[in-house]
Amino acid sequence: MVKKFCSPAYAYAEWREPARQRFWFDVKDLPQGAEYALEVRAVNCWGKASAPLRSKLWKGLPGYAEVAWTEVVLTFDDASKGHIAVAAPAMEKYGFKGVFNIITDKIGRPGHLTWDDVRELKKRGHVICSHGKSHVDMVKLAKEKGDAAVMAEFTESMAAIEKETGEKPKYFCPPFVSYDEGTERMCAKAGMKLMPAPRKGFHSCDTRESFAKYLDSLIAKRPVKMDLLFHGVMPENGWEPLGEGVFEACMQELKKRVDQGSILVRDAETFFGK
Ligand SMILES: [Zn+2]
Repeated sequence: MVKKFCSPAYAYAEWREPARQRFWFDVKDLPQGAEYALEVRAVNCWGKASAPLRSKLWKGLPGYAEVAWTEVVLTFDDASKGHIAVAAPAMEKYGFKGVFNIITDKIGRPGHLTWDDVRELKKRGHVICSHGKSHVDMVKLAKEKGDAAVMAEFTESMAAIEKETGEKPKYFCPPFVSYDEGTERMCAKAGMKLMPAPRKGFHSCDTRESFAKYLDSLIAKRPVKMDLLFHGVMPENGWEPLGEGVFEACMQELKKRVDQGSILVRDAETFFGK
């Protein structure tokens, strides 16, 4: 059953006192326009959206564009083994998909994903993107070795991904978040879209509590878009890895806020553009 609030006052009551679910009722019983405007206002006042807003039932109606969302995407850099061992299953448990930015020369090396792992992630609905062939700073590379060297990073990593997965990557994640107009233009010429900053990385110092606190700070900043970036997600694997169980705890915190309507987890296309 699709439900909605009947007025901001009721919405407020429900948010403050979740037990008062009696204020929810079926959307088909409601006159559309006025109720919708009220709901949008309620969302902007209290930061939470009810089911119809999340389900896009009223997308395109007046006021919809004014809803202030917190949008995130889950990205994983550098192709460490924990991405398939820990990150993918934990995300799948809560209904999320990840964006895996792989360094093609690292695939199959100890502690890293294999091509079978990459294919498996793709098969399970996650998105595979290029993080370069050898993980170099593209702006520095252009200065030191010229455009051809930069182009080779794009085209050779793309070709490897296409050969192994059957599909060209759509997006390029610049190592060290280093890019400028020139490298962005070359990336487009190679046939990929550059993933723009901002990104927020989570590392060994992070915990369930620090992740939850960060999510709440994002919710308070609506409207905002943030790429939530992970490297190592299990002990002793990958760069500055999260502690045991921390990644799954983070997904639980994210899911809680998604269910409350406070955060939208976007897919790569919606977040980065087509
Ligand atoms: Zn990297």
